[in-house]
Amino acid sequence: MFFKTKKFLPYDCYRTIFDIDYRKLYQLGKRVILIDIDNTLVPYDRDLPERRHLELIDEIKTLGFQIIFISNNHKERVEKIALAFDVDYVYSACKPLKKGFKKALTKANYQTKSEVLTIGDQVVTDVLGSNLYQLDAILVKPIKKKNEKWYTKVNRIAENIIIKRMLKQYPAMALKIINLRGETIENQM
Ligand SMILES: [Mg+2]
Repeated sequence: MFFKTKKFLPYDCYRTIFDIDYRKLYQLGKRVILIDIDNTLVPYDRDLPERRHLELIDEIKTLGFQIIFISNNHKERVEKIALAFDVDYVYSACKPLKKGFKKALTKANYQTKSEVLTIGDQVVTDVLGSNLYQLDAILVKPIKKKNEKWYTKVNRIAENIIIKRMLKQYPAMALKIINLRGETIENQM
């Protein structure tokens, strides 16, 4: 594997975006959150958010955070979702490359990168990209794997290899990820 295991290590991990303690993150000095869309915020096969998603994003904004969506998906889908949430966005972000993160930060109000946090469901795009750009990343369990595109399925294979490797070097975080992913949340969607 090309990168050290450390580059794939999230800052923290949670089951869903609803389980994250945003108040605590604010107290820790975080001010800007870059959120992945597909399988982090909404499933791949849904292009309009549910009310609870809209309410969550509103709550996070009310706490004082700036939110920017950052997605590798195409303009049409990303724009539609971002408009529904009234949130700034970056489409075709090419995560894990720096391009999209860099673009997102041009839209952000922040002093240092330590104020910026990312949330995503993929170790090889969201977490690796964040770490390569010196941003803390929260990993969430993918909402629904069933309809993932072929290249995401390839990423998942790589991800499993990485998590196994993580188990040797960073057992606490690896076990946390494995335990979260062992549960199913598909029925709740
Ligand atoms: Mg995703």
